[in-house]
Amino acid sequence: MITFGYDCPYCAKKDVAFTIRHIASNVADTGKYRGQTVHNVFATCNHCFSGITAMYILNNSDDYINGMPSANGLIAAVNDKLVHFFDDVFDKKLAWFPEPPISVAPQYLPVDVERKFLAGEKIYFQTKHDENLVEFAGTAYRSALEQALKYLDDNSDKNLNRRINHLVKTQVLVKSMGDFAHTIRSLGNEATHNEISADELDKLRLFTQLFLQYAFTLPAMISNKP
Ligand SMILES: [Zn+2]
Repeated sequence: MITFGYDCPYCAKKDVAFTIRHIASNVADTGKYRGQTVHNVFATCNHCFSGITAMYILNNSDDYINGMPSANGLIAAVNDKLVHFFDDVFDKKLAWFPEPPISVAPQYLPVDVERKFLAGEKIYFQTKHDENLVEFAGTAYRSALEQALKYLDDNSDKNLNRRINHLVKTQVLVKSMGDFAHTIRSLGNEATHNEISADELDKLRLFTQLFLQYAFTLPAMISNKP
C-alpha cells in the first residue's frame, strides 16, 4: 500500500489520505516519452473514494524502486500490506489530475466584498462533504452582492430589492445585470431559509462571480489600460 495526503478535488477535504490502487507501467516506444518508462498512477481518496491520476516518468526502466526494477518495485509496493509513504517510493512530486479546488476572487474587488466572496468560497468547498453548509455558502454570496451594490449606489435604502431596482432605474446597471442581481438576491433569500439545493448553490456562485466581474473587474481593467 502506498499512501499520501492531498486536497481532494471531489469532497474538498484538506490533506486527506489517498491510497494508490493501481500503476500501469510501459516503456514508451513512440512520442514525447520515447525510450522512457511511463508509469500511470491511479489513486483514490480514502474519504469519498473518487480517483485522481498522474504520470511518473523515469528515464531508465532499470531504475530501482523498493529494491526491484521500477515496474516490479512499484507494483510490489502497491500490493504490499505494509504501508509505504509516498516519498519513500517516488523521488519527485506528481502532477495529479484533477487538481485541488482553489478559490480565486475576481480581480479588483473592494476589500470587504472580496472578504465576503472568499468566505462564500471557503464554505462552498466544505459543502462538498457537508451538505448542511449549503445555506451558509449561499448566504455569504448574497452578502457579497449586498456589499458590492453599496459601492454602486449612494442610496441609503438598505432594502436589497429596492436598491437593485434603483440601480437599474438610474442606469448604473443595465436591465440584464439588474435581473442577474435579482436572481442572486432571490437564490440568496432561499439560502437563508434553508431552501437551496447544491445545484442552485452552484448557480448562485457562478452568478455572483460574473456579477462582480462586471461591476468591478471589467471597469478596472479598462481604466488601467496604458
Ligand atoms: Zn475525497
